Amino acid sequence: MAEVQMAETETFAFQAEINQLLSLIINTFYSNKEIFLRELISNSSDALDKIRFEGLTDKSKLEAQPELFIRLVPDKANKTLSIIDSGVGMTKADLVNNLGTIARSGTKEFMEALQAGADVSMIGQFGVGFYSAYLVAEKVIVTTKHNDDEQYVWESQAGGSFTVTRDTSGEQLGRGTKITLYLKEDQLEYLEERRIKDLVKKHSEFISYPIYLWTEKTIEKEISDDEDDEEPKKEEEGAVEDVDEDKDKEKKKKKIKEVSHEWQLINKQKPIWLRKPEEITKEEYASFYKSLTNDWEDHLAVKHFSVEGQLEFKAILFVPRRAPFDLFDSRKKPNNIKLYVRRVFIMDNCEELIPEYLSFVKGVVDSDDLPLNISREMLQQNKILKVIRKNLVKKCIEMFNEIAENKDDYNKFYDAFSKNLKLGIHEDSQNRAKLAELLRYHSTKSGDELTSLKDYVTRMKEGQKDIYYITGESKKAVENSPFLERLKKKGYEVLFMVDAIDEYAVGQLKEYDGKKLVSATKEGLKLEDETEEEKQKKEEKKKSFENLCKVIKEILGDKVEKVVVSDRIVDSPCCLVTGEYGWSANMERIMKAQALRDSSMSSYMSSKKTMEINPDNGIMEELRKRAEADKNDKSVKDLVLLLFETALLTSGFSLDDPNTFAARIHRMLKLGLSIDEDEGADDVDMPVLEEEAAEESKMEEVD
Ligand code: ADP
Repeated sequence: MAEVQMAETETFAFQAEINQLLSLIINTFYSNKEIFLRELISNSSDALDKIRFEGLTDKSKLEAQPELFIRLVPDKANKTLSIIDSGVGMTKADLVNNLGTIARSGTKEFMEALQAGADVSMIGQFGVGFYSAYLVAEKVIVTTKHNDDEQYVWESQAGGSFTVTRDTSGEQLGRGTKITLYLKEDQLEYLEERRIKDLVKKHSEFISYPIYLWTEKTIEKEISDDEDDEEPKKEEEGAVEDVDEDKDKEKKKKKIKEVSHEWQLINKQKPIWLRKPEEITKEEYASFYKSLTNDWEDHLAVKHFSVEGQLEFKAILFVPRRAPFDLFDSRKKPNNIKLYVRRVFIMDNCEELIPEYLSFVKGVVDSDDLPLNISREMLQQNKILKVIRKNLVKKCIEMFNEIAENKDDYNKFYDAFSKNLKLGIHEDSQNRAKLAELLRYHSTKSGDELTSLKDYVTRMKEGQKDIYYITGESKKAVENSPFLERLKKKGYEVLFMVDAIDEYAVGQLKEYDGKKLVSATKEGLKLEDETEEEKQKKEEKKKSFENLCKVIKEILGDKVEKVVVSDRIVDSPCCLVTGEYGWSANMERIMKAQALRDSSMSSYMSSKKTMEINPDNGIMEELRKRAEADKNDKSVKDLVLLLFETALLTSGFSLDDPNTFAARIHRMLKLGLSIDEDEGADDVDMPVLEEEAAEESKMEEVD
């Protein structure tokens, strides 16, 4: 027992998910274990960023250890590898929370990804990179000193728990963190200098702090006996060897082996964004991208540029190959752009730097003009930042257009980020027109491919003024919709907008290239008639159906706003369209699905339905005749209700009461099968149906 006062050791249980993660890391075979070093160096770099940033406004924070570095110490005798940084360090509370008791949102997602066959190298993306230490270590000791606390030691061999003890060993870090890995017997390769150097070059080359490796050097040196006392300051551990005197021309010379240790700088830290784009290889960009983002795959696209003139900055922007697991999670970082001021990292969560819809773009911006000690409040109104932001958006859009030059790449990009583009259309009025060029849709004419609005326009028929689209739940649900009948017959192409966000985006876009975007399911779809004769014929038809329209409206009551003769259907008997400015059927579906929506909106936005009937349809013709003969014909009422309900379905609405609908269908079936109406237990009488109809319409009003 030492005479220094004994510090108390506290034992903590790992949070359940972290514990699971640890067993997975330890017990599953992964060949790609080397990534642990990248993760730990990346953590060190983050910790250094933090203290450097704090030091900008308060120099005294750096006093305990003014130098910012990362050091790697392989110790063959003890089979340990230590990663030391002079970063911000952790307080005792940080240690307990960050390394074991509070699970990150990505813990579960990462385990699921692993079990689904993902590679362990993805770990950093999920915010649990520290635990990769257990890929190679059986025991990990973390010694850390934060400015606001004493030095503490965290220790764990996994197995469910870790301990935290105040450090009384006497080893002073000043400030920062030392992570010591007790390597597993089969992982001793990570003690080899060559291996470590290669790894740093491969994964951590672009870390902007010096990474030093504690290296051992053995040199053979010739000395003459009388030179003995003029030794260099290096420590001498080597033994003196015998000298082959025959070969030595000079007398009394000795060869000795000298083992010396020194810190060797093993990374270049010149930021890649300061170099000329034409001198940077694709591999270098990829390697920088990976070290910046922890991604395990190369980037999909890169844009490296500098802006000069009144304002100067350099930037590199990347588009990843996939969307992250938390793309639209509001708790995540606002964006993925790191802000530097004259090479000094400032922050990586500056909301003002890039709009939310571009949060998937990753990269760095290095400004020459911003003050180093800029505060968050200053950033909010900063004019320079506004200009930077504008430029970044412009360059992003340029980059997306470059991706669009390669179809495969663009499909990949669009799959992952089309929602972001559409969000941009919704939010960014300044760039709306440019973003619209990037949209792609399936259409009645695009087959399996997607079409751009530009290509759509080139295919527009003579006399076609507008761009037509239909919104709905899926391609399948809309491609045979009755709303498209007339448009298809006229040869007009219709875009399928089947993403929930399309409703919002198209609501803002309104037009493209001077052409109005017109919904096939809303009121106001006017298609020109070919000839005067046809027009007249139609007018006459319309007139003859006026009475039926009135009768139908009376039967349906408040279920519909009005009943009119349709311009847009060719085959189906009828359809239900919605107001030009209200919600479409699809929007109603989307809004109903939003658990937390404000229900006050629905009363005035929810679809006011207009029933459009097809005068050329046999059913309608028959109904017209019957209604003419007897306004109160019961069969007319039943048929109209049935038609209304089927139209709800084919027009993309949902049925409020499927049972009544089913009962009505069953009745029709019996009629068709000539079964007597009074037979059977579940028979539904006409009067009952009418009552139900009345009930239903009341209920809809309440909703
Ligand atoms: P991430 O780094 O993605 O947040 P990790 O599991 O790698 O997730 O690390 C968890 C947390 O532990 C970090 O967010 C940080 O607060 C802390 N941490 C890890 N390594 C260091 C270090 N070298 N210096 C200071 N804090 C660290």
